[in-house]
Amino acid sequence: MTRQRQLIFDIIQRSDRHLTAEQIYLEAKRHLPSIAMGTVYRNLGLMAEAGEIRRVVIANEPDRFDRMLAPHHHMICLRCGHVADVELDGIRQQIEMRAGVPVESYDLSIRYICPQCREIERTYR
Ligand SMILES: [Zn+2]
Ligand SMILES: [Zn+2]
Repeated sequence: MTRQRQLIFDIIQRSDRHLTAEQIYLEAKRHLPSIAMGTVYRNLGLMAEAGEIRRVVIANEPDRFDRMLAPHHHMICLRCGHVADVELDGIRQQIEMRAGVPVESYDLSIRYICPQCREIERTYR
């Protein structure tokens, strides 16, 4: 593993957030000022393909990168863009039961207003 790849991997493992490539790049640059954006993108792609990290695709949002590989879904805050994990059991089974056929894949887009943003709205209304 190259030094760049190790650094990018460590940044994702250390973060409990779902970082964008840009956020990872900015953090990587603090440790390795010579690192290029293209290097970050390329390594993120390779690591996601290798299953070392998970790419989280959200419509109309930049991709996020997740250290948690176990199956889970994501909720995105409409106000601040914060991405939270949510575990939902049995969705595939429910779809298949109703459709009566096996499901190859599905996408779920969950939008909400996170507790912090709710609090801000309550304070300034
Ligand atoms: Zn929020
Ligand atoms: Zn996640």
